[in-house]
Amino acid sequence: MILVSGKEVSSRVQDEIAIEVEKLKANGGKIPHLAAVLVGEDGASRTYVNAKVKACERVGFGSTLVKLDSDISEADLLAEIDKLNNDNDIDGFIVQLPLPKHINEQKVTEAIAPEKDVDGFHPVSLGKMVLDLPSFLPATPAGIIEMLRHYNIPTEGKHCVVIGRSHIVGSPMSILMARNTYPGNCTVTLTHSRTRNLTEICASADILIVAIGKPEFVTADMVKEGATVIDVGIHRIEDSSKKSGFRLLGDVKFDEVAPKCAFISPVPGGVGPMTIASLLKNTLLAVRLK
Ligand code: NAD
Repeated sequence: MILVSGKEVSSRVQDEIAIEVEKLKANGGKIPHLAAVLVGEDGASRTYVNAKVKACERVGFGSTLVKLDSDISEADLLAEIDKLNNDNDIDGFIVQLPLPKHINEQKVTEAIAPEKDVDGFHPVSLGKMVLDLPSFLPATPAGIIEMLRHYNIPTEGKHCVVIGRSHIVGSPMSILMARNTYPGNCTVTLTHSRTRNLTEICASADILIVAIGKPEFVTADMVKEGATVIDVGIHRIEDSSKKSGFRLLGDVKFDEVAPKCAFISPVPGGVGPMTIASLLKNTLLAVRLK
């Protein structure tokens, strides 16, 4: 069994980006600048945004954190987005999801200028991805593609099963795995809450990508001997023995699944760091496309 270390791949990608930033600086070019909008005080969202800002510092990007109260109106949030759209120094920005219930996430996503949509959630970005045109790929699926490439995991002709059909992970993942390229060229089955015989379908997967959002949902009986398993889930489980007060679990019951796998990504240290690496790559792309 080979552990697919997103932490390691992400660190390598960040080193490469840092070299690119040095070159840009040396040539008098624009230093990439990423902004992140954080609405409210959700602990997990704060952690993700802080990690993104820290990664910007590491590679030499400029970064701006826009912190807004959880009771901000939708109109005021849209006005903040408009400011970022029109700020020439900001090359790309993200609005950390989820947003408070009174704000329409789709409306917010569509308000982001497509040329600054480094999370890759805008309909323009997703449409271009489907058409195989150069675009900002959604950060988490793009990070998984990068991990598969880094570990030379064979994908052509393989059966890839994706669990979960969210717009930000499962659905785009299924499209990327079916593309006529490497990594890709899989025969893809996209499963969801209405899927019947999920266990049998998963057990026939050469590559199983799990984004269901349920802790330790995938058990050993759902995994084929020699499969590749990529675990997207992140759950904070209360644990008083930890300094932070919680430990992290994925969507896969790692201890019992890992021995059956050829490759498996852990949680933490798997997909999470790759999402950040993709975000930085997209920001660099935004500068280049300008
Ligand atoms: P989501 O809740 O939007 O989607 C979950 C999907 O699972 C839905 O499409 C649903 O149809 C499907 N589902 C629910 N029950 C099912 C069942 N019994 N059988 C089959 N499918 C079922 O989740 P999401 O936003 O895609 O996130 C999934 C997980 O990944 C979460 O734990 C989230 O925190 C994590 N996540 C991690 C990263 C990262 O960077 N590592 C990024 C995004 C999301």
